[in-house]
Amino acid sequence: MSIQQLVETVRGRGRLDRAGALELYRYAPTSLLGRLADEVRARKHPARIVTYIIDRNVNYTNICVARCNFCAFYRPVGSAEGYVLGFEEIFRKIEETVALGGGQLLLQGGHNPDLPLEWYEDLFRGVKARFPAFRLHALSPPEVIHLARISRLPVPQVIDRLVGAGLDSIPGGGAEILVDRVRKLLNCYSKAAAQEWLDVMRCAHGAGLRTTATMMYGTVETAEERLEHLFRLREVQDETGGFTAFIAWSYQPEHTELGGVEATGVEYLRTLAIARLVLDNFDNLQASWVTQGGKVGQLSLAFGANDMGSVMIEENVVRAAGASYCMDEIEIVRNIENAGFAPKRRNMHYEILGDPIFRERDVPRMLELAVARADGDTSRPPEIERYAARSAAEKRARLTGH
Ligand code: SF4
Repeated sequence: MSIQQLVETVRGRGRLDRAGALELYRYAPTSLLGRLADEVRARKHPARIVTYIIDRNVNYTNICVARCNFCAFYRPVGSAEGYVLGFEEIFRKIEETVALGGGQLLLQGGHNPDLPLEWYEDLFRGVKARFPAFRLHALSPPEVIHLARISRLPVPQVIDRLVGAGLDSIPGGGAEILVDRVRKLLNCYSKAAAQEWLDVMRCAHGAGLRTTATMMYGTVETAEERLEHLFRLREVQDETGGFTAFIAWSYQPEHTELGGVEATGVEYLRTLAIARLVLDNFDNLQASWVTQGGKVGQLSLAFGANDMGSVMIEENVVRAAGASYCMDEIEIVRNIENAGFAPKRRNMHYEILGDPIFRERDVPRMLELAVARADGDTSRPPEIERYAARSAAEKRARLTGH
């Protein structure tokens, strides 16, 4: 089909197929792609509202056995720079989040062999006992698979136990590109093959959880493989309807084993726009200002995004790979309003909670994102010893006391 016929397909609410999407992604002018994506965004969100959430990205451990070659965040088991946050540290972070008007944690971490399923259940129960209304958007599919493997339990049972302890929703992390050729090259095939990632989401949706979906592009994949990723997500969404939103971000190469260069802002906008066109069964697309910065984040609102993501409060993963953008609620709201939209706070289900909180009450300005732990803090949480150690390094640490 010609570009003009594909434009008419989108305007006539027809579905793009793989060949048509590739034609548009490769050859349509960026302004045309943006205009089409904006038309689809306006069809789905005619009220010109752009949402955001106040929450905190907490990474409970950086110790990881998966060793993805694009990741600058993880430390191997036994590393002096490895950490596990204590329950009390996490509760304090929640108190700080609540003070800023936040209502959930995005909780993700490395695949730490010394944290069994019971550690997560105790943490989740502890959170819910102290903060009953607080929501846990936690554990991406590869973390769930890791827990299933070390517990020797099937994934549905792990999800049921986590939900029983307080899990509210699963973030779509660890998807990278859902094509096994790419996953093998990124050394993330064994943590979760494409089908395994999708099956965890099918299972979570079947258990009544809503989840997000993500894509990290800009490593070794082809344009066809990026689109294959989108079509696989669209197929699961046709089946379950369980995805709330899609978030794309570009690979951040600094301090990674893989190295390379970051994709441009224009490539980000084209990728976001084609995602809006292919993912016709997704309501929400987030702008990734944390990798792109505030201004490209703002431009995203003209390329199909209807959500500015999260105020975030804390960030460790993208920062480890060299990006360090920070926007507090005031900055996010300014970017939304200057782009001609009405900003509204939302929850994890994209239900509107209200107007910006800083217009209702005083909240402290947040000019830089917090980190998991202060530099040099190598403390070991006291409760860790309640759980059986699996790694030789952890067993040694318990014997020697450090
Ligand atoms: S991306 Fe996640 S799973 Fe992969 S090495 Fe980093 S922390 Fe581990």
